[in-house]
Amino acid sequence: MSKMRRDSVTKVFLSESDIPKQWYNIVADMPNKPEPYISPMTGKVATPDEMSAIFPKAIIEQEMSTERFIDIPEEVRKMYAQWRPSPLYRARNLEKLLDTPARIYYKYEGVNATGSHKLNSALAQAYYNKASGIKRLTTETGAGQWGSALSMACNHFGLECAVYMVKVSYQQKPYRRSFMQTFGATVTASPSNLTKSGRAILEKDPESTGSLGIAISEAVEDAVSRNDTNYALGSVLNHVCLHQTVIGLEAKKQLEAIDEYPDVVFACCGGGSNFAGIAFPFLQDKFNGTKIRAVAVEPAACPSLTKGVFAYDYSDTAKMAPLSKMYTLGSDFVPPGIHAGGLRYHGASPIVSQLYHDGFIEAKAYGQKAVFDAAVMFARSEGIVPAPESSHAIRAAIDEALLAKEAGEEKVILFNLSGHGYFDMSSYDYYFSGEMEDIEYSGIDLESNIKNLPKVEK
Ligand SMILES: *Cc1c(COP(=O)(O)O)cnc(C)c1O
Repeated sequence: MSKMRRDSVTKVFLSESDIPKQWYNIVADMPNKPEPYISPMTGKVATPDEMSAIFPKAIIEQEMSTERFIDIPEEVRKMYAQWRPSPLYRARNLEKLLDTPARIYYKYEGVNATGSHKLNSALAQAYYNKASGIKRLTTETGAGQWGSALSMACNHFGLECAVYMVKVSYQQKPYRRSFMQTFGATVTASPSNLTKSGRAILEKDPESTGSLGIAISEAVEDAVSRNDTNYALGSVLNHVCLHQTVIGLEAKKQLEAIDEYPDVVFACCGGGSNFAGIAFPFLQDKFNGTKIRAVAVEPAACPSLTKGVFAYDYSDTAKMAPLSKMYTLGSDFVPPGIHAGGLRYHGASPIVSQLYHDGFIEAKAYGQKAVFDAAVMFARSEGIVPAPESSHAIRAAIDEALLAKEAGEEKVILFNLSGHGYFDMSSYDYYFSGEMEDIEYSGIDLESNIKNLPKVEK
């Protein structure tokens, strides 16, 4: 591609042949590798054998791999071609609105049918499960994006899909449920009475609105109980972060085509996968000495990185999934019903956590009102209604651009627009009603929840 002039460009498309052929595995370059998973059964390092109860061999290999680049299967790459390479935009109107000397770019992952980055990993996971002879996948979904992505991927590769959807989202987002059903998935509100872990929660609290931790327990229990069934997770795990790196690999190429390189990269952070996706390929440069900042942006109501502790913790409420060393608010923490459902997880990716612990990345937290202010500002200037999750990154990018204005600096800002918000209009309604409140994380729960952290000896 010829170098376009950066001063005139508004969006950078690449051609199909520019879709990456390999994912970038950051573990290869990390000075301190993420700590291994611990089996909740034995209290020892989880073996590939134990993990094979819920994951296919190829995924387990990726989870533990230290290879720098891993081939993307041709069938997956072909599906990527439906919407990849995704566009990179320059936020010209937003820049004008902010009157900033900064140049703001965003990578837009909402251009596939499911509306978020999650399809990048869903297709890969469905493919590997199908290839290993699995007939059915279970999963949890918070806001509904991951469930949508996996439903579509399972439909494509001919797998059944059972989704446990956090009850509060099930009620707030009926169209997400219809979407998943369109692609043939079975959707159950969690906690449900289909599983032991669901029933245990309902016994204690029949009104429970659920949490990701509970829904994960239900999906894992379902998968463990059947031989033809595996489990798929939409974030947090190393292989999910790996699959998402197509985002950053493309963004690098797109910026290169207009002779740009970011000073700072922002992405919202729930489990960490879209942050990983955009940031890891740039962090590879950072390990080689390039100056670049990467900032994970989380909700003030569920601030795992900025307020949590770095420790081994359970990944789910029923303590069935492997334990991981991560920043956590404690697996008993049930986040408040904030309107960025996809960011309501008590922990974070072990890789992202290790990078944060080692000072390679930064983290920042915002309340939801400031986030929706930014979302609306972005919609009105750029013409895309952003997902509430993604809007955390927008908030941070706007604040950075305003800082650049104060300092009179020509900064280059890149953020990931992880998805669109067209299924989230009820959250926007709530914001416009003036009743939306910021729910600050009190930290009171942290003290009691971290008392329950598992003791791990490796
Ligand atoms: C799921 C989701 C997130 C949060 O998950 P990560 O794994 O942290 O990326 C963010 N944005 C959108 C649009 C999502 O669907």
